[in-house]
Parts: sequence; structure tokens; C-alpha cells
Amino acid sequence: MVVGQIFDRSITNRARRAMKGIRRMSMKRYSVFAIAREAARYHSGWERAWKSPQPKKRYDAIIIGAGGHGLATAYYLGKNHGITNVAILEKGWLGGGNTGRNTTIIRSNYLQDPSAAIYEKARSLYETMSQDLNMNVMFSPRGVIMLAQTEHEVRGYERTAHANALQGVKTEFIGPERVKELVPIINIDGPRYPVLGGLWQARGGTARHDAVAWGYARACSAMGMDIIQQCEVTGVRRDGGKVVGVDTTKGAIECNKLGVVVAGHSGVISEMAGFRLPIESVALQALVSEPIKPCMDVVVMANTVHGYMSQSDKGEMVIGGGTDGFNNYTQRGSFHHVEETVRALIETFPIISRLKMLRQWGGIVDVTGDRSPIISKTPVDGMFINCGWGTGGFKAIPGSGWAMAEMIAKGEPGALAAEFGMDRFVEGRFIDESVAAGVAH
Ligand SMILES: Cc1cc2nc3c(=O)[nH]c(=O)nc-3n(C[C@H](O)[C@H](O)[C@H](O)COP(=O)(O)OP(=O)(O)OC[C@H]3O[C@@H](n4cnc5c(N)ncnc54)[C@H](O)[C@@H]3O)c2cc1C
Repeated sequence: MVVGQIFDRSITNRARRAMKGIRRMSMKRYSVFAIAREAARYHSGWERAWKSPQPKKRYDAIIIGAGGHGLATAYYLGKNHGITNVAILEKGWLGGGNTGRNTTIIRSNYLQDPSAAIYEKARSLYETMSQDLNMNVMFSPRGVIMLAQTEHEVRGYERTAHANALQGVKTEFIGPERVKELVPIINIDGPRYPVLGGLWQARGGTARHDAVAWGYARACSAMGMDIIQQCEVTGVRRDGGKVVGVDTTKGAIECNKLGVVVAGHSGVISEMAGFRLPIESVALQALVSEPIKPCMDVVVMANTVHGYMSQSDKGEMVIGGGTDGFNNYTQRGSFHHVEETVRALIETFPIISRLKMLRQWGGIVDVTGDRSPIISKTPVDGMFINCGWGTGGFKAIPGSGWAMAEMIAKGEPGALAAEFGMDRFVEGRFIDESVAAGVAH
């Protein structure tokens, strides 16, 4: 599949009417003029970015999980398909799951065609997301390098670069001198893991994670959708084989269609609905250093040693490593992880040996056997699931929301989602991204 083929330009008349509705809604536009106006009146005129309503008795569609993927699903349901009688149910606060805990790396140079298609769709939507949502999501296409530090990695990344050329995804394999030029603080002559080159995607980068969640939430609320926080789903209601609603800590709510987008808790919800998922939940941790002067303006991933690093706008070095070696639901950091991750990176980035580490945290990621997501119908009629993004789903948020919304609206997966059905685990039709996404982001 060539990436360009899955760009669906057909927006229905119903969706056009919904868009007109959005423009008419009360949401005040953020702009430089709004900032000047509010500065002149002591910032007394800002309104709440989204409403906090009580749940209605019934919705056309319910989305469980107000992370980036759930909110993007709701947004594209309204924007592309004109479905706005939607509730998004969140057991905590919106964006408080992995979406607000990740290290925000965005890239699309995956090996397999279905992955490249959905990640490139997402990356291209990031390019215009701030304008689309009228929220500055601080998308920074500063470039992402994946270091090749063994001969095996050189061969693997050269292969990915060739695959990406065929898929229409812009990426290139670069030599060690070019890596040094792009990252002056790097040591390319390490005794154990010298830098032999890297896979470089110049339009990859980062974005502000919670702004992505807030932007989608604000746009959903403006379309009249209900975002209901502190509302945990505790049961899935069925009538025979069809979903008819959910039980929640705020009472029962009826729906025609149900979208489950809860990352590390997907197995919990699927159990409520009576089926099992090929998913493991495991903690993934990250940390930041004290802020220092600007010293690295690209993202660098070193997958052989399990570490990666970028510099935030505040100057902190944002550092991530591998997942915990055992399944768990512990949404927090642990000391041994700081040591393991920093130790792994010191040979390649000697300057970090002098840095104090400031904060660390963890999120519960949902990992499949082939390290690719599940965007799928389920054994329960009217219930759809989107999960398995594991350690690398922040970058996919807009593309995943687009594909999931299409599947919920039409009842069948479109071109973007078609390969990611969970029947692939029964059929042995894996989309193997274990090198690209098993640890790195
Ligand atoms: C430390 C770390 C670093 C990462 N780094 C990167 C990176 O650099 N780049 C990248 O692309 N990806 C990265 N990821 C992965 C990325 O964060 C996730 O894949 C992505 O955010 C998943 O988004 P989501 O919306 O599916 O899940 P979440 O944001 O976790 O949202 C799911 C929501 O569902 C809610 N929920 C769960 N159960 C229920 C229930 N019963 N009722 C109601 N609500 C419920 C949760 O409270 C949560 O808010 C990282 C993850 C972590 C933890």
C-alpha cells in the first residue's frame, strides 16, 4: 500500500454540516489578538476550555478513555462523519494516562507498509494540528535519529530506509560524521558501541503532549460532545451479542456504539465484555534532568543500549529507557530504572554523567506480540477496540483517531485500519515491528 492512497479526501455532507456547527459553537478562538485583549483586561475573559457535564441517559456513541487516542477518535467522529452525540468517559482526568506521561517522540519511519501508512498519516496531521484545533500543540519537527551501533542495526536501518522509499515516507540512512554534525555532544567512538550511522527522519520531532489532549478535548466539547471525567466504566451491557451501554461510577449509560481506547487497561474492559485480548500490560518509565543550556536540537534514540534523549524547551534532558521486565499496573517510576537507563546512555553521551536527575514517572503501556496496534471490531456487535500502541503510540494519535472514527462510523475498518484487526493473531498474519517499536519510540 502506498501511503498517499490512504489519504481519504471524501468528507460527507453530514460532516460538512457538523463542521459548520463547530464554527457556530461558542468556542472563542485563541489568537494573538485574544492574548492582547485579555492582557488589557487582566485575563478576566478566558472561558473554560471544555465543559464538565453530567452524563445523559443515552448517546449514539460512547468512547471509553480520554487519552489522546480516545479524544482524537471522538474528534474525527464529529469532524469527518458528523456524529456528535458522543460521550467520552474517563476514570481519572483527561490526558492523565500515557498521553500525559510520554516523551513525545513523533516519527513515521516504520518497516512494514501498514505501519508506515498509519504513522505517516498521523505525522502529516501533526504538521497542521495547531491550526486545525486552534491550540498550539508546539509541534517541533526537529528531526529524529535512530542510532546504528552494531553491524546488525546498520543492515536493519538500511532496509527500513529502502522500505520507506517505496512507501513514500521521507527518511534516510546517514553516516557517523553526519550524526556528529547533527549532534555535537555525541561520542561516536565509544569502545563498546561506536556510532556507525543512523536512520534520520528530518520531519520527525516532538509535540507538547498535554496540549494535544487539551486541543482535542476543547474541539470535542465545542462540537457538543460530553467529556465526563472521574467516571470509571465498571461493566459493559449487552443484549444478546450486541452492546447496548455501559455501567459506570456515575450510573448506567446507553449507547448504540462503543469505542474502547484505554491503553494499558484494555484487557480489563475486554474481560468485562467477555473476550480476551492478546495484550500484556507493563510499566514504561522516563525521567528528566535539571534544565541546562540548549545543547541538542534533535531527538536521538539508541536502541541497542535501550535509551533515548531529547531536550525540552525548558532545557531539561528528557530521557527514556525500556519497559519493566514483568507485567504490572504500577503507574510510577523506580530508582533502579534511573541508574540502568542513564548508565546505558553515558558511553554515547558522556555529558549526562554530570547531570542531576529531577523527576521520573511511569505509565502502563499495552504491548502485543508483534508490537503493532489493534484497531478492530470485537466479538461483541457494535463494540470496537483500539489498543496495543505500547511504547510508541503518542506519535500515532491523529492517525489512529482518524482510523478508529471511520471504523465506528461505518461499522467496518477502512484502509488505514484494515490490517490491524485482532484476527491477525489467529491467522498468523503478524505486522512485525518488534525491532522498530519493541522498546524505542
Ligand atoms: C514513559 C512513556 C514514554 C513514552 N514515550 C513515547 C514517545 O516518545 N513517543 C510515542 O509515540 N509514544 C510514547 N509512549 C507511548 C504513548 O504514551 C502511548 O502509546 C499513548 O499515549 C497511548 O494513548 P492512549 O490515548 O491510548 O492511552 P492513555 O493516554 O493511557 O489513555 C487511556 C485512558 O483510559 C482511561 N481509562 C482506563 N480504564 C478506564 C475505565 N475503566 N473507565 C474510564 N476510563 C478508563 C485512563 O485513565 C486513561 O486516561 C510513551 C509511554 C510512556 C508511559
